[in-house]
Amino acid sequence: MIAVIGGGIVGSLIARELNKYEKDVYLFEAKNSIGIGVTKGNSGIIHGGYDDPPGTLRAKLCHMGNKLYEEISKELSIEVLRVGSHVVAFNEEELKIIDEIEENAIKNNMKEYKILDKKDVLDMEPLLNKDVLKSFYCPIAGVTEPWEVAMQAAKSIEINGGKVFKNKKLVGVNKKSEKYELIFEDGSSYLTDLVINACGLYADEVAKLFGDNLPLIFPVKGEYFLFGKDIKYSNSIIFPIPTPLTKGCLVVPTVDGGFLAGPNAQEVKSKKDFSTTTEGLSEVRERSLKLIPSLDFSRNVVKVFAGLRPETKIKDFHIDVGERGNVIHVSGIRSPGLTAAPAIAKYVVEYLIAEKMHINLKKRKDYTSYIEKMPHLVETDLVYWERAINEDPEAGEMICFCNEVTKKEIKEAIRSGARTIDDIKFSTRASFGECQGSFCTSKILKIISEETHLSPTEIKQNEEGSWIIASEVRTI
Ligand SMILES: Cc1cc2nc3c(=O)[nH]c(=O)nc-3n(C[C@H](O)[C@H](O)[C@H](O)COP(=O)(O)OP(=O)(O)OC[C@H]3O[C@@H](n4cnc5c(N)ncnc54)[C@H](O)[C@@H]3O)c2cc1C
Repeated sequence: MIAVIGGGIVGSLIARELNKYEKDVYLFEAKNSIGIGVTKGNSGIIHGGYDDPPGTLRAKLCHMGNKLYEEISKELSIEVLRVGSHVVAFNEEELKIIDEIEENAIKNNMKEYKILDKKDVLDMEPLLNKDVLKSFYCPIAGVTEPWEVAMQAAKSIEINGGKVFKNKKLVGVNKKSEKYELIFEDGSSYLTDLVINACGLYADEVAKLFGDNLPLIFPVKGEYFLFGKDIKYSNSIIFPIPTPLTKGCLVVPTVDGGFLAGPNAQEVKSKKDFSTTTEGLSEVRERSLKLIPSLDFSRNVVKVFAGLRPETKIKDFHIDVGERGNVIHVSGIRSPGLTAAPAIAKYVVEYLIAEKMHINLKKRKDYTSYIEKMPHLVETDLVYWERAINEDPEAGEMICFCNEVTKKEIKEAIRSGARTIDDIKFSTRASFGECQGSFCTSKILKIISEETHLSPTEIKQNEEGSWIIASEVRTI
């Protein structure tokens, strides 16, 4: 049996890749949902691969990952919008950095870019700061919903006979000859031939359970503003000139038509510190206004949030076999981790497992690569939607009015395993819009309760302890 620990975008895609071979694959996730660790709170950008330091694993896997999204998006029925990206320069100093980015792209063998002058950039992005002088334009950059990639990958694993366990936090490991006994917080244990540690922020701590000391992971927080859909601030992703630490505070259209401004970068002490701060948000506001001066922070913002980057001093991915063998650590997966994730999966399976560890991998003949996903009905044409309503009137019963999500879509998500309000939010976009669930949360709660026979008091927003209601005072 092969165990993958960590159901983020990286672990889920590795487990999916392994499942293509004649192996028993088990994916274990500590939280009660897939894709809600680092994978949930980021910019959602599929980077072009022009700026990662040449020779690093980041550079090797980012561009390859970008290309693999073509196949992944079709097979997993996820949305990837190739909106393109600009790195914009506003003065002579910044123009020199555009030249450096171009040199870096050439070293990374990345050919899909153009240097645009002021007129061309402003034709493409009319709301961009008019002081712009040039841009490094990358047409293959895009956006996706990373949590959806992880969720769909997990679905694909189950459809193909693999096992996906939630609420399974690895807390102990015993080496038993060539195998490992994995001990989970709930008291269960599994004997496994090979383990992949893909634990995001905690990969260094999990590596210690296997006797391995990896570069320490320290969390670097990035704060964001999420804007509603009423104003289209940009057609593509707008990056400032990068800082030594990050790609800078950017503006990015989201897949569902909103916008993100952020993130800043601040090292924090706790891997659980997802708080937003007045200082951090002011910094994001100030920096993003330099890119798009008309960003309306007083009327269009629907939410602020923060994500934590799993950063290390080596600033590169650490993906290698552990000292005692039969364990692979996939650690330090900072940006561009979600871009690189499909390539990381191939690197682990085709290079580390097959070539370096000489483990015999035989492709399965019965593998189903295509996984369906119910479309967002609002995005289908009216003929399709009308047919859906004729087949099932709940396809016309609107639950989330902001993002126009119907009861049928919510029930479908529950049938696919959604049990929390956030599961529904991340798989259907219900409660993700302007009102952030003020209107629809109670309705979603009721549908989950009816479909699963869970008491409304048992249904959570996301993690343990995040119940929506404490007790029933009247029937809802
Ligand atoms: C602010 C910010 C912006 C970013 N922007 C981008 C971007 O635009 N483009 C890009 O390519 N990348 C970006 N990244 C990086 C990207 O988000 C990450 O590289 C990627 O999501 C990492 O995924 P993961 O699966 O390794 O980690 P995670 O999603 O954290 O998954 C690890 C999982 O392991 C589980 N786990 C932990 N410990 C245990 C245990 N003991 N037992 C069982 N399970 C365990 C966790 O619960 C978690 O679900 C950004 C990151 C941040 C924070």
